[in-house]
Amino acid sequence: MKVFISADMEGVAGVVHQEHTGRDGREHDRARRLMTEEVNAAVEGALEAGATEILVNDSHGTMRNLIPELLHSEAEYIIGSPKLLAMMQGVDESFDAAILLGHHARMGQPGILNHSFSGRVVRNIKINGVDYGEIGINAAIAGAFDVPTILVTGCQYAGAEAAELIPSIETAIVKKTVNRITAQNLSPAKSQALIKGRVISALEKRGEIKPFKIEGPYTVELSYVHAGFADAAEVLPIVEKISPDTHRFQSDDFITTFRYIRSLISLASSI
Ligand SMILES: [Zn+2]
Repeated sequence: MKVFISADMEGVAGVVHQEHTGRDGREHDRARRLMTEEVNAAVEGALEAGATEILVNDSHGTMRNLIPELLHSEAEYIIGSPKLLAMMQGVDESFDAAILLGHHARMGQPGILNHSFSGRVVRNIKINGVDYGEIGINAAIAGAFDVPTILVTGCQYAGAEAAELIPSIETAIVKKTVNRITAQNLSPAKSQALIKGRVISALEKRGEIKPFKIEGPYTVELSYVHAGFADAAEVLPIVEKISPDTHRFQSDDFITTFRYIRSLISLASSI
């Protein structure tokens, strides 16, 4: 059994602020350690449930957060960026299950440290009329390879966002959002024990969880935080500007759609 883990940081217990998540934050190294320990707990759970291969993709910010010397010996780790599939780099048809660890709610919803790929640039991502954040899009990338996303870990709003899209998904709620930069957290030990247990139960019922797919063809409306970002990104010929701060484009294939979204965000980020 092969298990893929995408490891973000905002949904890790104890992480609540830019001082944790930003590479120059004073608490960043502590947050990296907490993230690494939650990943290790997930790896332990996967091994106990019978996984024979585990691939972990570091999917936060610079994507160079996991602390190599502290990592569990029995998995492999993708560290660094850029990567074509970004937070889901490494997933393919050979995997039996995907786990979104340390994930967070989308921009515009309540939830600790919520955003959608870029808090500075992206206001909303609508695909075929439905709003999606990182949880929905990352699960749909796995789904494009017929891999079910079986577990999301993070705050209660991240769990609710996942459950709305994937009704039978397992969740591990390691903290309760109080507001965008305040949470009531489990201790690291309790959080890691919960994650390990939920990885085991999710893998045991993985046959009941269908791969999450967004059916094509795809019409995407990407709204930016302000019109200047739309001005910067409209160099990509595929887009039509439907309002000063919103682009629309169409595509037939989900992975191509995702790559266009990433391209637009990168172009917008250049200003
Ligand atoms: Zn992140």
